[in-house]
Amino acid sequence: MRSAAIERAGWAGSEAGRSGSSWTEVRFRTMTFADSGSLFREEAVTARSTTWLRLKPRSPLLIGRLKADSAYLTTLPYIPGRILRGAWAEYRRIQNQLQTLASDARRIQIWNFHPAPAGARYSLPLPLSAWTCKSYPGFRPGGHGVLDSLIPRLAYALLERSNAPPSLPFQTVCDLCKARTTPLGGYYACDPEGRFERIRIPLQFQTKIAMSRRRRAAMEGMLYQVTAIAPHEPLTLIGCMHGPADLIRELREAIARVGIGALTRRGYGEVEVEEAQPPAYPPLQERVERFNRLLRDLWKDLSRLVPANPPPELPAGLYFTVDLLAPGIFREEPLGSPTLVPTLRLAGQVLRPIFWITRPLLVSGWSTAWGLPKPIALAAAPGSSYVFCWEQTNWEALEALEQDGIGERTDEGFGELLICHPFHTEVEPV
Ligand SMILES: [Zn+2]
Repeated sequence: MRSAAIERAGWAGSEAGRSGSSWTEVRFRTMTFADSGSLFREEAVTARSTTWLRLKPRSPLLIGRLKADSAYLTTLPYIPGRILRGAWAEYRRIQNQLQTLASDARRIQIWNFHPAPAGARYSLPLPLSAWTCKSYPGFRPGGHGVLDSLIPRLAYALLERSNAPPSLPFQTVCDLCKARTTPLGGYYACDPEGRFERIRIPLQFQTKIAMSRRRRAAMEGMLYQVTAIAPHEPLTLIGCMHGPADLIRELREAIARVGIGALTRRGYGEVEVEEAQPPAYPPLQERVERFNRLLRDLWKDLSRLVPANPPPELPAGLYFTVDLLAPGIFREEPLGSPTLVPTLRLAGQVLRPIFWITRPLLVSGWSTAWGLPKPIALAAAPGSSYVFCWEQTNWEALEALEQDGIGERTDEGFGELLICHPFHTEVEPV
């Protein structure tokens, strides 16, 4: 049996307003490296190995926030790391070994587990810059295709900031039917042949009778509806953790024995755990170099539209993006005001993005230590992209950034990122 506090801990954190707001913010700054501001980091996790795991749902999964005043419970499409940590805490509680949990939890970084069809080469959330045809949305051949607008918009924005702005407004229409384009969200997968498809998460709906905690009996007239991830093949969830092998082994055991998410006492949350291969997208250096090559090519194409003669040069430096795979929580400086735009501290340098596409989101959480809800925080939505220009080329620093994540509460899975999301180079519809 779970205690009420741990049951709630299983819900720890979720995103409100995921569908509430659909606007996209696009802004840019001048290309100077600011000397103020810094990145808030929680205690760094010590040296450890990386293990990728695959979770196969064996019963419905309800991953989300407990809403006291709502008759609808809807799952998140992925499993935040903090939910797995909640399962671990419960496992330790059953074995009466909670004393070292806090210190052990600091030795392991549990990232988020994202939907991935079995057999896919990799799967990722689409960046907010992914656009599709408004009339026939979706990947080809079923739809009119999906393209990424980040590099063209970045080149255009940089040209606008140069002394010779382009004479035409930036717009994209479908090359097959000339309809307007619209953002496409959610997850996509790349199959072994390199074809893309959108991941459809199978959902299951159930109406349940509310139970009184006091009387342990059904409450008359109190019904609620649960929307959960259905345990249908081939959907699995894949993610990684960095830490000592013995803790990872224990965590695996905990997930398999205790279950994850909410309503585990009512048959929800059962998963099978197995070791997985890391996702096979191109390595970091290759992604960054491809991004820079394409930006330079597009810059040349676009600068032909500039009336000035000769066209301006692309400002020098290594361009790279930070792409959020999960919500990111940032502040202007430690204890400063919340912001949607992170500042990086890389190899002793402070970097601010020169261009970004993001969207706000509200996140909450549950502090197991305090037994209290965490305050609701402003976060940048998954799929947010931030472009940086750096005069250095330091691959180790970029690898470390990718491994550590950015912003606050990375130990709960916030701020998980990829540098140069592979979809950014899909500038032609696919
Ligand atoms: Zn079209």
